[in-house]
Amino acid sequence: MTDDPTTPYLLTPGPLTTSPSTRAAMNRDWGSRDKDFIEMTARIRTRLASIVGVTDAAPTHSCVLLQGSGTYAIEATLDTLIPRDGKLLLLINGAYGTRMAEICRYIGRETEQIEYSENAPVDLTGVEFAIDSDPSITHVAVVHCETTTGILNPLVELAEMIRRKGLGLIIDAMSSFGALPLDVATVPCTAVVASSNKCLEGVPGVGFAIIEKAALKACENNPTSLSLDLFRQWQQFEKTGEWRFTPPTHVVAAFDAALDAFEQEGGVEGRGARYAENCRILVTGMRALGFETYLSDNLQAPIIVTFYSPGDANYVFGEFYDRLKSHGYAIYPGKLTKEDSFRIGCIGDLGSREMKGALTAIEAVLVEMQITDRAPAGRSG
Ligand SMILES: *Cc1c(COP(=O)(O)O)cnc(C)c1O
Repeated sequence: MTDDPTTPYLLTPGPLTTSPSTRAAMNRDWGSRDKDFIEMTARIRTRLASIVGVTDAAPTHSCVLLQGSGTYAIEATLDTLIPRDGKLLLLINGAYGTRMAEICRYIGRETEQIEYSENAPVDLTGVEFAIDSDPSITHVAVVHCETTTGILNPLVELAEMIRRKGLGLIIDAMSSFGALPLDVATVPCTAVVASSNKCLEGVPGVGFAIIEKAALKACENNPTSLSLDLFRQWQQFEKTGEWRFTPPTHVVAAFDAALDAFEQEGGVEGRGARYAENCRILVTGMRALGFETYLSDNLQAPIIVTFYSPGDANYVFGEFYDRLKSHGYAIYPGKLTKEDSFRIGCIGDLGSREMKGALTAIEAVLVEMQITDRAPAGRSG
């Protein structure tokens, strides 16, 4: 939890509130070729892979770390794995799916896209039909929790079907990794991509992809980018234990400390339970204040919640944000294409005390701004 009263809690999709012990791990320097740092890198790779069920007994996948934010890791994964003459089927129900389409335009990979409404999860039948209609499709990509809204896309049956068809599957698990269960034994996939600064509660600066070794081995000379070449990054980790280019050493050290805390909390189960409780407190409290959630409860992942902006004429997001921040809580603007909304995250080093604190602050700001009508515009009572 923040130890400095001038630092607001970050109720956002990331970067997030980190613990003092994670931040303290950055308070020394590391030589990138030093044995201790090489061991730390290896330890992190093993721990990340084990979170999705990759173990010494079932070493199907390998974790490749990459400097940069999550988008760098997504771009690197797509550019490394999709053959230059391949075709990616994109399942889009939010901005992060759209971003993968944009990446493919830059890296010159052909795509086919299925677009859903932002409050609808991807559907198995439609995807199967699209695959059967176009034999040139080689891979499918999907976002696990679409952070645009907070919607959860179901993966198990989708992944099984895609594997049956013999296609590759790339999962953007950026905002779910470490909080929602995902095991490569039950969700067969080519790659799972995430980053240090979301549910693993590290600081920003490292992304990673956990990639099927058989697929990775076939990718030599496929990437179009030198620095985003995950085949060569993997080879270097395997051969020397080192990163190919200057690693963000302090970020890596913080990530290692964050993974200690993750394991102490009981891994995915423990962390997921804390976030689920955070989400429950948030949604219940906001509804009691008169707000409405964008998603129905059965579609909502316990990661980030989209609320309709209140219809009251006194509501202005910028002022609402600034006032909440002065009470110690930073929230996030909405990202819906059609409706006015804002988002509040349930993730990071936050518990029930902070979620209740946020609700108290929101209630105070509503009074300060004289916002009495909290229902969405057009639906006011
Ligand atoms: C955060 C996030 C990303 C990566 O965003 P960056 O700003 O590059 O860290 C990608 N996909 C999803 C679903 C995300 O939540």
